[in-house]
Amino acid sequence: MHRRELLRGAAALPLLALPALPSPEAAAQEAAPKAPRTGPAPRPRAHLARVRPGDPGWPSEAGWQKLKDAVGGNLIAVHSLFAACEKEPGAAACREATENIHNPFYVGDQPAGTQVSGWLDAWTPAPSVYAVKATSSAEVAAAVNFAREHRLRLVVKGGGHSYQGTSNAPDSLLIWTRAMNQVRLHEAFVPQGCSGNSQAVPAVSAGAGAMWIDLYNAVTTRAGRYVQGGGCTSVGVAGLVQSGGFGSFSKGFGSAASGLLEAEIVTADGRVRTVNACSDPDLFWAIKGGGGGSWGVVTRLTLRTHELPALFGAAWGKIRAQSDEAFRRLLTRFFDFYAASLFNPHWGEQVKIGSDHTLELSMVSQGVDREHSRQLWQPFFDWIRASPGDFKVIDELGAGAKGSRDWWQIEGNHSMIPDKRAGAAPDHGWWEGDQGQVGAFLHGYDSLWLPATLLRGEERQRLVTALLAGSRHKQIELHFNKGLAGAPPAAIAAALDTATNPHVTEAFALAIIADGEGAAYPGMARPAMDLEAAHRDARAIERATAELRKVAPDAGSYVSESNFFNKRWQQDYWGEHYPRLRSVKKKYDPESLFFVHHGVGSEDWSADGFTRLA
Ligand SMILES: Cc1cc2nc3c(=O)[nH]c(=O)nc-3n(C[C@H](O)[C@H](O)[C@H](O)COP(=O)(O)OP(=O)(O)OC[C@H]3O[C@@H](n4cnc5c(N)ncnc54)[C@H](O)[C@@H]3O)c2cc1C
Repeated sequence: MHRRELLRGAAALPLLALPALPSPEAAAQEAAPKAPRTGPAPRPRAHLARVRPGDPGWPSEAGWQKLKDAVGGNLIAVHSLFAACEKEPGAAACREATENIHNPFYVGDQPAGTQVSGWLDAWTPAPSVYAVKATSSAEVAAAVNFAREHRLRLVVKGGGHSYQGTSNAPDSLLIWTRAMNQVRLHEAFVPQGCSGNSQAVPAVSAGAGAMWIDLYNAVTTRAGRYVQGGGCTSVGVAGLVQSGGFGSFSKGFGSAASGLLEAEIVTADGRVRTVNACSDPDLFWAIKGGGGGSWGVVTRLTLRTHELPALFGAAWGKIRAQSDEAFRRLLTRFFDFYAASLFNPHWGEQVKIGSDHTLELSMVSQGVDREHSRQLWQPFFDWIRASPGDFKVIDELGAGAKGSRDWWQIEGNHSMIPDKRAGAAPDHGWWEGDQGQVGAFLHGYDSLWLPATLLRGEERQRLVTALLAGSRHKQIELHFNKGLAGAPPAAIAAALDTATNPHVTEAFALAIIADGEGAAYPGMARPAMDLEAAHRDARAIERATAELRKVAPDAGSYVSESNFFNKRWQQDYWGEHYPRLRSVKKKYDPESLFFVHHGVGSEDWSADGFTRLA
């Protein structure tokens, strides 16, 4: 699987009314997972166990009807993406799913849509029994109260981009925020209740169902300002902010969570709260990076906007070293160049260090003009071209820049794929480089923050040695924009005021080691998976990660781009913040109505979130 291959083209310019409700038994059958899961789901027996369809406590049809009335009719039965194909392969609904499954906006428009089609031995997409397709915080509150009163397994979904599968669960009730996608700009925003001690700042408010492309269109393309969000355009705003969240230019502007000024959230008690630095500051802090799906249902977010740099740009190319020794020299030279010239707020995104002695550049810049960018990269490019016996240029090397306001413009942007479905928003599209990820089935995935100390003096050779050793097993991606060392002091200070592991501020990059294969949704017509090869792949990812851990043993890992099987997740995701997050969880959600895999407090529950262990 290839992650974002960034923007070469761009910068190279001259760059439901509830249908007749199925019976509980039919609903249970529909919701049952169709592919192997990690083990048999325990039946709820104990106090504080949750109920499944068929259990005595499962709501009656009259009960569901009451919920439907309370949510303005927005209660729908959920069917898996390829349910129609399983019933009747020639049906129009099956054709529609098959034709659109590689469009992330189509996947996001389906109540059962997950942007990842599963993870080997970890999880398989499984639809909820019902979903509340919420249009207001009052409807969300009604759904939260219903789930709490009936002891249901509750799931929250926005953009559906959870790698860890935390926005779908069988036998559950889903609160789906997709329809709450309004975006509004503020010239001077002061968080509620903060007027005495907070300066008014330009900001943008978004409903929880908005995607980043909706904000980039409103804030940058139309209004000429900047908001810090994520790289992938179809990722949900609420999910990413609760992850911490990094975009291409985070080295300049910090994490997305750092920019949060206020949120509206429905907590487990059904209250609609406006939280900010002045009201429920502990919950506000937890939402900023404490992980999605653990705190309540966020219904609206307000984020600071920034002055837009005049130019965004990129540097690109791919080089193959002809020997082990040449590969070491290539990486050494690159990190010398990175440490001297790129380790600053202007440069982000990635390089890929391949198992085939390749170094692929997919870097982006902000606030650097084309001429300056070219001059900066020229000595490195000249050094490579001077030794054709050692280094082969596989993809042309280059650097450039363009007007920042057009960066997310879909029309005329060769790096963007427009959503061409009838009736689709004309300003919705996704980066060409993200296509490979749409619907991917993961064999394995891991990440670790590499401390900036590894760039210093002799440490740099240890870093190169570890990258060489690791890349023998699997390609390693370094996402410079997801480590905040080198960012402006204000961005670092803001990140330290979030729940994200503080190690992020000392890391020059997030290393990501991941692989998988194309879409493999349950019920989808495709060749049988080669499970032996997939397991081999997973082991290769483990080995590559282990090599990097030798030089960064306490590195920490990014909660939303990390290993499903991470055993020390509390420490890796949140570091010293974990005890504080636990106490916020106890205060606002003592019964863990909001449960996700490896979310704060999830250690008290069975893996499926149905039975309390302690
Ligand atoms: C293809 C792809 C590209 C990605 N690119 C980036 C990137 O560039 N930068 C980056 O930092 N991360 C990236 N991620 C990770 C992504 O930020 C997280 O997975 C994020 O949580 C996704 O949010 P979502 O709403 O799209 O997903 P969902 O699966 O809908 O939600 C993710 C989690 O947040 C919870 N959640 C969602 N909405 C709410 C809400 N309103 N209230 C409470 N909880 C909620 C869900 O319950 C779930 O646990 C990417 C992931 C994928 C699959």
